[in-house]
Amino acid sequence: MTEIIWCKKCDTVNYLDPYIFWNFKGNVKCAECGTIYYVHLINGFYYEGPTEVKEPVKDYIMPLYADKPYDGYSCYLPGTPERTRPYVCLPSERPPTGKPYYVKFSIRGRPVRGWAPQPPSTGLAGSAGFKWEIEKLSPEVWKEYQEKLKRGEVREW
Ligand SMILES: [Zn+2]
Repeated sequence: MTEIIWCKKCDTVNYLDPYIFWNFKGNVKCAECGTIYYVHLINGFYYEGPTEVKEPVKDYIMPLYADKPYDGYSCYLPGTPERTRPYVCLPSERPPTGKPYYVKFSIRGRPVRGWAPQPPSTGLAGSAGFKWEIEKLSPEVWKEYQEKLKRGEVREW
């Protein structure tokens, strides 16, 4: 969290999540009573506000989550209509299968040891350490690496 808006009208704590509010200037609506607050945050801290906006405004943003500490922490979870925003995270590039995706190459295209199953020739629990002779131990990864080199997909930085 960056900051909160503790609405004194309804004793609701509106949590301002860093993804949206880290550097933010605008209006935030209280999840419980709908009061609009003007806030200006810089690097996650209040620069101005929160101050109540008296005149009706149309451009406001809702908090991600809000709760009421004096009411047993009853809360509005993310995505409650007209009260909180849905939690939208970055979607995965790959569809979920329930099994991990193993990475055989680093972002620079160099082979890494993080994939499985590794051949028994790599030793007990992958104890080959720095002496990973990829050509001998994992011929198919070596082949793939050679093709990547040919295609120019391997870089130093
Ligand atoms: Zn309120």
